[in-house]
Amino acid sequence: MFLRSKKLPLDGMHEECGVFGVYSTETRDVAYTAYLGLYALQHRGQESCGIAVTYANKIQYYKGMGLVPEVFSGEGLARLPEGDIAIGHVRYSTTGASSPLNAQPIVFTGKCGKMALAHNGNLTNTKQLREELIQDNAVFQTSIDSEVLALLINKYSDGDIVRGVIQACNRVQGSYALVIMAADKLIAVRDPYGIRPLILGKCLDDTIIASESCAIDAVGGNCIRDIKPGEIVVIDAKGVQSYFLEQQKKTASCIFEYVYFARPDSVIDGCSVYEARKEAGRLLAKHAPIDADIVSGVPDSAVVAARGYSEVSGIPYVEALAKNRYLGRTFIQPDQTTRENSVSVKMNALRANICGKRLIIVDDSIVRGTTSRQIVKMLREAGAKEVHMMICSPIVKYPCHLGIDMQTRSQLIGAYRTQEEIGQFIGADSLHYLTVAQLRQTCKTGCLQFCTGCFDGEYPYSLADFQADKYKFE
Ligand code: SF4
Repeated sequence: MFLRSKKLPLDGMHEECGVFGVYSTETRDVAYTAYLGLYALQHRGQESCGIAVTYANKIQYYKGMGLVPEVFSGEGLARLPEGDIAIGHVRYSTTGASSPLNAQPIVFTGKCGKMALAHNGNLTNTKQLREELIQDNAVFQTSIDSEVLALLINKYSDGDIVRGVIQACNRVQGSYALVIMAADKLIAVRDPYGIRPLILGKCLDDTIIASESCAIDAVGGNCIRDIKPGEIVVIDAKGVQSYFLEQQKKTASCIFEYVYFARPDSVIDGCSVYEARKEAGRLLAKHAPIDADIVSGVPDSAVVAARGYSEVSGIPYVEALAKNRYLGRTFIQPDQTTRENSVSVKMNALRANICGKRLIIVDDSIVRGTTSRQIVKMLREAGAKEVHMMICSPIVKYPCHLGIDMQTRSQLIGAYRTQEEIGQFIGADSLHYLTVAQLRQTCKTGCLQFCTGCFDGEYPYSLADFQADKYKFE
């Protein structure tokens, strides 16, 4: 039995994490800026969150399980002092258990004094590094790979945190977008392939770092530029300086950010997520024309693409599904049967709009297939005469080991079934996907090359290495 919904917990695919940092030229309520930034990045992780603030050579932090407003309502935010620098993190666990201990930022005292680190991504060579650090008398407190990075930075710092960051990053493999805070500086790092997004912005005299541009917009700032793959940006009293890790021959930004993970109002590496999604719909209309009465999108991520399909095909866009907007990520689904039924809790068909109609329904991706099957069933029960499904990405055939919770092939309906078999499984009259080349075309305004590993098995880091590194501190 396959199951897929990326929009509810315990299903097939989840977002990774989001990071945020602010450097202020004056002591003020930087924690509140971080809070606003994390609020805008909530879609990237809903399990836990935290904020750390530097003030008077000290670091104070507050973190906990739950959504940003849950953790920081009441006394949470009030407990954080005014300061000069703050970093924040929203987490969905891809390594390590979902527990308060594993919430980030990681805060510790090391060779460079107090330090805090927040990480979006997934490292693929931590087993050996962790053993090496333990041999060096390091003590681990959490079960997350990010702590390996923090302790490596400390190991190599010797009074110069920037040198520590460079040497530590040269030893790790995998995806990482980092914000690191010391008493007097904010440091941002993007891995040499640029797998996860990271952007630099300004808000008056403050310098901002965020996983997505929507967070810079949320704090009233302006985006300056994306952090380059392999770039280390150091922000301190001297200004903003860049250093570079050893460059790779090519870059490999995660193309799934555009398909599903990122917010549609974000722009990543020069490519608008909204435009990429709309173009996906346009391309589907061009390459998979269907004679139908109406076209619609699965809310929320596929609505823009459905409008793109409508634009090119001339088939009117009509709402087919109404979403329950109050179904949070905390919705508990105790078993598989309940999880399958949860689709009808999450959304409902608009019978009056679709009854007797030949319907094209657009979705962003199919991971396990069960959600798509439930949606097709729901639309038919509401009277749709035909249901044709259009997917804004290629067949997901391979797992992701670079920060997305999609780690085994057995989770993926596309790993073992053909397009026709998937269409039969979900019960659609027809099923159409974009090809990898077409998906790349949707992001053609972006300035980086892409990772498309979950579609074609072409990863920047070997999946076998990650599997050999399976010792993930459970
Ligand atoms: S394997 Fe897929 S989800 Fe993972 S980084 Fe590559 S494109 Fe993104």
